[in-house]
Amino acid sequence: MAEFGFNTLSVHAGAQPDPATGARATPIYQTTAYVFEDADHAAALFNLQVFGNIYSRIMNPTNSVLEERVAALEGGRAALAVASGHAAQLIAFHPLMHPGDEFVAGRQLYGGSITQFNHSFAKFDWHVKWADGRDPDSFKKQITPKTKALYIESIANPGGLITDIEAIAAVAHDAGVPLIVDNTMASPYLIRPFEWGADIVVHSATKFLGGHGNSMAGIVVDSGRFNWGSGKYPTLSEPCPSYHGMKLWETFGDMAYAIACRVLSLRDLGPALAPMNAFLILTGCETLPLRMQRHCDNALAVAQWLQRHPKVAWVNYAGLEDNESYGLHRTYCPKGAGSIFTFGVKGGYEAGKALVNNVKLFSHLANIGDTRSLIIHPASTTHRQLESEQRKAAGAGDDVVRLSIGIESVEDIIADLDQALGA
Ligand SMILES: *Cc1c(COP(=O)(O)O)cnc(C)c1O
Repeated sequence: MAEFGFNTLSVHAGAQPDPATGARATPIYQTTAYVFEDADHAAALFNLQVFGNIYSRIMNPTNSVLEERVAALEGGRAALAVASGHAAQLIAFHPLMHPGDEFVAGRQLYGGSITQFNHSFAKFDWHVKWADGRDPDSFKKQITPKTKALYIESIANPGGLITDIEAIAAVAHDAGVPLIVDNTMASPYLIRPFEWGADIVVHSATKFLGGHGNSMAGIVVDSGRFNWGSGKYPTLSEPCPSYHGMKLWETFGDMAYAIACRVLSLRDLGPALAPMNAFLILTGCETLPLRMQRHCDNALAVAQWLQRHPKVAWVNYAGLEDNESYGLHRTYCPKGAGSIFTFGVKGGYEAGKALVNNVKLFSHLANIGDTRSLIIHPASTTHRQLESEQRKAAGAGDDVVRLSIGIESVEDIIADLDQALGA
């Protein structure tokens, strides 16, 4: 469907009327397993000689539509849907990493990702080295012969930093490693990282792709462009012991990484996406362009209003002309700078807490990318497990309030902040 526009792909990519019933909406294939045609068909499926459904841990027809939809929106070769954004991150690294291996990540990341990389990945003997998302050279300095990937967020949660994907992709490719981009905050409506040289995209589809705050999901998207034949990635290039010595890169070419994520990592680690959630995320994808534009337009209006408010110390939104990311915003995502941003209330920690307690339309909770406007104090919640210095580095210092601006009437969003700041 590559010839269709983004709005059309959002509605149609991957979906056909159901061949069995004519159902126009994608059915929820609520089944664990699929009947084989005969014994030879079953054997061929298990040998990866033909593609088809075996067991819903590995693939499911509802999930397949979501995978094709998001692959099309990102301009990728193939995708794999899993149970959450964090599962997508685990699955994305699994085919690349062996015990003792390293990857380099920009330190401006979602707090949960910092914790996953520092602590849980370390238990697999996978080691993160931190760089500065503002400075492509700082990634280069952390690269060693054990480095297997670079990792960034296109727009960082919650600091809103817009990352120079093209420059960091060049650093990755000089070192012969892929660039993985968490594109959750931008969504493919604002930024398509593959167009800037990224090799792998991951999403928390829980956020803007689903968009309604009603289901968890994650997605790994493969550009299909990385050459896995250098010898650095034995899982992809060497004989695979759990498939009778098949070499995935030789056999599947530009699909090898996506297939490895599915038939090795998802098969063995197991965070399968429920088809009901795939259905809900798919429904969300249909309105992604409409929602995303309203999110961004509302966020800009709210940020501009806050900037003029006497009780507000500072506003950090890449859509404002005085912001450090404004230039990269104009380059990478001119349609909008996203809907999540941070600001400081005069009076610091206590004033921030009072604000969160006094909002009425905003919901005080730990999520982003909902149709509803959301507010949180990251230092005491999402980034609480981090040390104070790490929090500051991630853009979540003690005085910081994070907003995820919804698609309500913007006057009502502003009025709620106004009454809460005045209370
Ligand atoms: C929420 C989030 C994640 C984690 O996704 P889950 O679906 O909550 O597991 C990862 N990255 C970013 C940028 C996020 O906002």
